[in-house]
Amino acid sequence: MTQRLYYTDSFLCNFDAEVAQVIPGERTAVVLDRTAFYPTSGGQVFDTGLLSANGTSARVVEVAEDESGRILHYIESTAQALAAGQKVSGTIDADRRRDHMQQHSGQHVLSAGFIELFQMPTVSFHMGNESCTIDLSTKAVTAEQIVKAEELANRVVFENRPVTVRFVSVDEARTLGLHKLPELQKDEMRLVEIKDLDLCACGGTHVAHTSQIGPILIRKTEKVKQGVRVEFVCGDRALKTSQKDFAVLTEAAALFSSHIYDIPQQIRKTLDEAKAGQKRQHALLEEIAELQAADLAANAQKAGGFRVVKQVFTDRDLAFIKLLAQKLTKCHGLLALLGSTVLPPAVVFARSADVDVDVRALMKQAMDDCGGRGGGSNDLAQGGVPDAAAVAPLVEKMASELQ
Ligand SMILES: [Zn+2]
Repeated sequence: MTQRLYYTDSFLCNFDAEVAQVIPGERTAVVLDRTAFYPTSGGQVFDTGLLSANGTSARVVEVAEDESGRILHYIESTAQALAAGQKVSGTIDADRRRDHMQQHSGQHVLSAGFIELFQMPTVSFHMGNESCTIDLSTKAVTAEQIVKAEELANRVVFENRPVTVRFVSVDEARTLGLHKLPELQKDEMRLVEIKDLDLCACGGTHVAHTSQIGPILIRKTEKVKQGVRVEFVCGDRALKTSQKDFAVLTEAAALFSSHIYDIPQQIRKTLDEAKAGQKRQHALLEEIAELQAADLAANAQKAGGFRVVKQVFTDRDLAFIKLLAQKLTKCHGLLALLGSTVLPPAVVFARSADVDVDVRALMKQAMDDCGGRGGGSNDLAQGGVPDAAAVAPLVEKMASELQ
């Protein structure tokens, strides 16, 4: 079993070790006698870094733990092979490690805060590349509770409380009132304690003092199957997130020429104006369609027992020609064959109630002809025409067939 150096020193980023085993495969895995590399476990993701020997280095791209407790260092496929018995020196990517420590210790603080304030235990923890989440076992969390938990967590950070690690027997752990004992019980348990706040069994890498976590910011809450998911960021991530928020808000404020705190009010005002504008536009289109329908109906051509209106528009869309068709067919004895070349090109066929033509059948014929798709009722049907240039000839053709 690999000796885990990160258990007793989270800040150790350089170490010497010996290669115990090299496991070939799709990705070569290296097992060391001792390691400071953290394998993915307990919600925390793996470290990356280098294994160096004889002046060359192999990049460690993933670290995982197998059932037998071996820590597998997967090395980049292009790296020079290492051999069992070889002395190596390991270097952990320190920025990534520090980030993970900030997120994981921040999680302990935040989870403890939700228990202390609202008796909401954390049932799972996930560390992502951008943010982290905890799932709280509760039906709901109010906005006020979120603020309170965030404030308590940050107060614990400001107080710079010590974070300590110790090993105890399982029997001793049972007497210590831990929130939860891990399912996988070993002879010895590793406990992480935040002074006067939290004591729990954890194998993760943690800061030594809570101030090293940096700010803890809650970003989002959502209902999930097992409770409420709380998304948060800590430390450098919190700083970067708030910088991004500020940049986005500043950009939005500049667009409205307002202060960032007035953005919601400005958006509401703009939405109201847009809605009113749409209403006005719709009323105008109705008026235009009414006028145009009267004009077209007056110039309709006789065909058998009814009159035909045929017109192709290059500046009006499908919605408008449908509106126009509805206005036209309010007149007696009219069949409308309308087209639009505005994307997506389309045709609309419609008839007055007293015209005995099945426009759906007419549309089907037109669609078969142009390779488009359409449908509708016996009174009004519409269809998409694949090519805008085909709209006018199609309307002409359907009109000639009515003669
Ligand atoms: Zn933990």
